[in-house]
Order: sequence, then C-alpha cells, then structure tokens
Amino acid sequence: MALLFPGVLVEGSSYECGRSLGEQCRDRVHLSYEIYLRLLRGTGGPSPARTPLAAACLGFLDRVRREDPALLKEMQGIADGARLALHQVALINVRSELMSLSCCGARRSVSAGAGCTSFGVSGEASSTGGALMAQTWDWMLACRQTLILQEVRKAGARPFLMLTEAGLIGKLGINADGIGLCVNFLHPRQASLEGTASHVYLRRILESPTIALARAAVMRTRASAGINVMLADAAGHLLDLEISPCGVGVLLPCRGVLKHANHYVSAGMNGASSATRQIPGSGERARRAGQILSQSPRPVGIENLKKALGDHQCQRGPICAHAGCGPWQGWGTVCGVVVDPRGRSLHVAPGFPCETPFSQVTLRP
Ligand SMILES: [Zn+2]
Repeated sequence: MALLFPGVLVEGSSYECGRSLGEQCRDRVHLSYEIYLRLLRGTGGPSPARTPLAAACLGFLDRVRREDPALLKEMQGIADGARLALHQVALINVRSELMSLSCCGARRSVSAGAGCTSFGVSGEASSTGGALMAQTWDWMLACRQTLILQEVRKAGARPFLMLTEAGLIGKLGINADGIGLCVNFLHPRQASLEGTASHVYLRRILESPTIALARAAVMRTRASAGINVMLADAAGHLLDLEISPCGVGVLLPCRGVLKHANHYVSAGMNGASSATRQIPGSGERARRAGQILSQSPRPVGIENLKKALGDHQCQRGPICAHAGCGPWQGWGTVCGVVVDPRGRSLHVAPGFPCETPFSQVTLRP
C-alpha cells in the first residue's frame, strides 16, 4: 500500500507558520525548488538572456508585498526554516506563470503533459447534501516526493487543510467553513508577470469564509496566467471559474453535474485557449467525466467519485493517466483527491487512483 503524503501542522503568526513548514519539510522544499529550477532552465522558455529568473521572482515578491504582506512574511518564514533565499521560495510559487510564459513563447509547451481533471455534483445530486467534487492532479510524477498535507492554523484566521507541494503557499483543499477547492491547469493565449500569481489567489480562496467571497476574490484579481478553479461548499453550491489574464468565465452545474479539464469553454472565454497549446484529449476527458457522473445512480457518493478518478476509457488521454501514456514520459496522475465540504475532509489516493487506496484526512474543528 502506498504511504499517504506527510501531514504537516503549522500554527502561529504568518512568519511562524512559514518557518515551521520550512523546518519540518526542509528536504521537500529544497526538492521543489530544484525540480522547477531544472525544468525552467531546460525548456527554452524564460532564460537568463530573455527573462532572468531572479528578476521575475523579485517582481513577484514586490506584488505580494503590495497585495498581501502577510503572505510575504510566511514565505520569508519558509525560506528561513528551509535555509533557502526568499527568491528561491518565490520561484516555487511563481513557477506556473513562468511555465505559461514558456508555453506562449516557445514552440513546444513545457507543461503539455500537465492537466488535471475536476468534476463534481451539487447538493441536489450528492449523497451528503453538500456538494462533492474530485480531481486528478496530473503533473510531474517526481512531485510525489514533494507533496504534503498541510494543516494551517494561522492566528486570527480560519484554519484550512491543503494538499500542496512543499513551499507552495496555495493549492487544492478544504477550509473550516466547508469551502472546497480543486485546480486545473489552463493554457491561455497570453501570459505575463504583471498580474497576481495563481497560487496567491488559490490561497485567498482557501481563506474565504463563503463561496461568494471566494468567487469575489477571484473576480477582482488580475491574473498573470491561466488556471481553472472548481469551488464547492457544505450547503451544496458548486461552480467553476475559468481564469485568464483577459478575464474570468463562470460555469454552473448542469443537472447537478459539473466537469472541467484543460481548455476554456465558458461563454466569452472560448477563444482564450491557445489552440496550439491545448492539451490533447482535454475535451474528450471532460466529456467522459461528465458522462460518468450523469450515468451514476443518484445520489452520487464519495465512492462514485473515487471510482471515476480511476477511469481509463479515453483514447487520447485517460482521467487516470499513467506514465508513458502519450509522449510525456515522467508526467502523469500524481494523485487523486475527493473533496467533501460537509465532512471537512479530503480523501487522498497518493498514486494512480485506479490502484491506490484512498485515505480520509479531516480538518479538526
Ligand atoms: Zn490508472
């Protein structure tokens, strides 16, 4: 049986939370940094000659300092605890934007093997009465060595639980108010370093007390790059926000079912995907996820979602993507997660969801 990703509890001020994380996960934070530094240097994307990585990281830090100084303190804590420089922690947190710049500027997408499929049911269709959702995390399989289950109990803030890479300040998770978050990669036509980095507003979502405030936090943010977020709550609400530097598209469930892969589909956002960068099979994969949930007996429960995460039926790229599927060796489904807002729980399979047992992790009151 695969071991679950390590659980890490951090408490106290922003700086103390960061420092504790850095100290407890020093090796994993270092590995996160090394993975992305190697990847970004080897892609033909931002290079020392065109977009110096250090300058990009410093620009990112300047924006965080202006927009969310508490997060900057937390990142300084991570750096101190892990014995890295602040700009090295910044690189981990701005890697999505740097990789998107690579996609827009290079013939070959650095992250063409990345994806993630998210899907869920609203309260009317779920067995819990709250919304339920799930996602595969498709990424470099090497990141199984950097993932952690981080419980954040920051002074003066509501606690939350997130499944993240060590050193990343925001990712998928669930908070104490029952707001759940899933995340998919999107390739917009354009990307820049001028807006807010995606992991910053993922963190804002996790710190939101209601789904309406989480949505508002996204809507008022000017994004640097593309990302898709699916939000669910304990009251049964479910919605999807397609984010790009040009704006945000909103998708709502159809007959209680919502699904998303790695291309823009909402009205007004259809042209936001870069056709040449679109991940092959994204449309087929999203349709398959919706088909599974629509055909599942009602009410749809957590076990139905776990089973759907292990589906292999799509020809051009299944929901559960094993290494060697397609041309992207070393990329695939890192893990599968079911988010249960009413239970304040994540059900995590720390490997391919078709063959890896799920473990339930619940946020303490
Ligand atoms: Zn599989």
